[in-house]
Amino acid sequence: MRSAYGVNPLDRGSDNTRQEKRTFIFLLVLTCVALVTVAVTLWLVPYIGFSNIYDKLPLIMAIVFGAIVLYMIGGALTLVFTVIRGRNLFFNRRIRGVVIRFLFPLLLVMGKLVGIGKDRVRRAFIAVNNELVLAEAKRVSPEKLLLLLPQCLQYHECPVRITGNVENCKECGRCKIKDLLGLSHKYHVEISVATGGTLARKIVVEKRPDIIIAVACERDLTSGIQDTHPVPVYGILNHRPNGPCYDTDVDIERVEKGLKVFLGDEEESTEEPGSGDLRRAAS
Ligand code: SF4
Repeated sequence: MRSAYGVNPLDRGSDNTRQEKRTFIFLLVLTCVALVTVAVTLWLVPYIGFSNIYDKLPLIMAIVFGAIVLYMIGGALTLVFTVIRGRNLFFNRRIRGVVIRFLFPLLLVMGKLVGIGKDRVRRAFIAVNNELVLAEAKRVSPEKLLLLLPQCLQYHECPVRITGNVENCKECGRCKIKDLLGLSHKYHVEISVATGGTLARKIVVEKRPDIIIAVACERDLTSGIQDTHPVPVYGILNHRPNGPCYDTDVDIERVEKGLKVFLGDEEESTEEPGSGDLRRAAS
């Protein structure tokens, strides 16, 4: 399946999404060059010493490092292919794990070295994560889909306590919680509001979803994607017209498209996730 978020199935063809993917691929290429340089250096430096131990050791080490380099380049090319084409590759899930656990920290370092800010790298990471989630996604039943929201979406003067139970919302319409609650009723999906990463993790452990559509800022989405792995998280960036963590906003249409994609809305398509029609429905 393919679509998605802040970067999303839903606006995957937009200029922002393309820019985020380009940032990711640029950093990925730089990281590969750096890692290959390190691998070659590690082989070259002891090269002369190896021959004193065993005359074929330099050749063996060249094969070992060559295999590592080929593996890295193969993985990078596969990732680039998946990001660009959105194709469901059989080892996609493993690649998502590698991106989340190993590649993202390296890209942050590489971004810092070349002057690309953390939030831009995070947006690129979220965009690529979404592509990988879409590429591997299966349809899920509504009770296995969790819509996870940040509390900053709630109007700052609202007296209602919605953490713990979003149903407490009086649906006055002063913030998007009303619309998001409406979506959860319409599609019969779980909805929760978290005040931070600790509560978000607790909610995920309790609800045990098969997939999460999460709304948050760059930092919280990135940490959420990492913390909940291997549960796939499709991230949608919130809007912050009043500054961070205060009366934030979200594109409801994008959230609904995400729900339709992962639930395999029958009105949208009767094909399996991953099919071209479903992707088009999401975009
Ligand atoms: S929509 Fe719900 S959460 Fe938002 S201000 Fe009204 S009662 Fe509060």
